[in-house]
Amino acid sequence: MLGTYPTKVEPLEALSRPGCALWVKRDDRTSSVYGGNKVRKLERLLADAKARGARRIVTVGAAGSHHVLATAVFGRREGFEVDAVLVPQPRTGHALDDLRADLALGVHVLPASSYAHAALRVAARLGKESYFIPVGGSNLSGALGYVDAARELSAQVRAGQMPEPDWIVVTLGSGGTVGGLAAGLALEGMRTRILAVTVAEPPALVGILASRLAKACARRVGASPADAVRRIERVRSYLGRGYGHPTPEGERATVTAASAGLELDPTYTAKTFAAALDAVEQKRAPVLLYWHTLSSAPLAPLLSGAPPESEVDPRLLALLR
Ligand SMILES: *Cc1c(COP(=O)(O)O)cnc(C)c1O
Repeated sequence: MLGTYPTKVEPLEALSRPGCALWVKRDDRTSSVYGGNKVRKLERLLADAKARGARRIVTVGAAGSHHVLATAVFGRREGFEVDAVLVPQPRTGHALDDLRADLALGVHVLPASSYAHAALRVAARLGKESYFIPVGGSNLSGALGYVDAARELSAQVRAGQMPEPDWIVVTLGSGGTVGGLAAGLALEGMRTRILAVTVAEPPALVGILASRLAKACARRVGASPADAVRRIERVRSYLGRGYGHPTPEGERATVTAASAGLELDPTYTAKTFAAALDAVEQKRAPVLLYWHTLSSAPLAPLLSGAPPESEVDPRLLALLR
């Protein structure tokens, strides 16, 4: 296994209100090397790549992609070459660090101007010994990692580690996390529903991806696809100007989260935590579980040996705009 499970569930007492308890699922700690939600997806993806005799992983993402970085960390550790086709995203210090860490890990980075262009570059790299992982690691294999996560949560509830949540509040990016969780909750017969906070575009397509993965996962594990899909309620009002653009609510939520010891990022978790805080404010239900998907492992060790910005290929730096 790449990660360390189960990840803890913890109450966020200072941020709860009478009648509405906020909890957190610490998937920021799936690994002490590089945590977050991509680790669970890579458990099955890299095992599948190995089983097929692949030597090279080819993947795709935004310039500061957590998925690409996680694939770099664990893919390299498992002995794969890693090619990443990267597309532009708004420049933040965090995104630049992720890109520099990719380079330090020896990823072959190929810039592309859009996802359409990226598809062509990916096709050109795919060969007999290569294994393709789509954006965010969100295909059936990757999403099944989040069926496992829902089963893990169910066991924690049964063991009395937390009350059964009415809602899980979680980020909806490429859909694998939400899709897998929805199928897993259906499989476990939990009453929990999912407030899926859309942070990627176009929102309608992202919703379709999540539903499709929820159904595919449900079919694979013998749960009801309709039950899985019904659990997902999407909110898009936290997206702001679009993927990767920080929002004022997100920035406020980041300050609040820091007071409770949680670090957020502007692209994914700040927007989601803002939604979780609003849900508490509205006393949406007695028990809410914010599912923390961002790595909290220090990036410094991954940046030792990374090129300084001044030495990064300008064609790669131009991806951060
Ligand atoms: C990738 C990512 C997500 C989105 O997960 P999907 O399975 O792609 O929807 C959420 N949070 C963080 C921090 C991520 O890196």
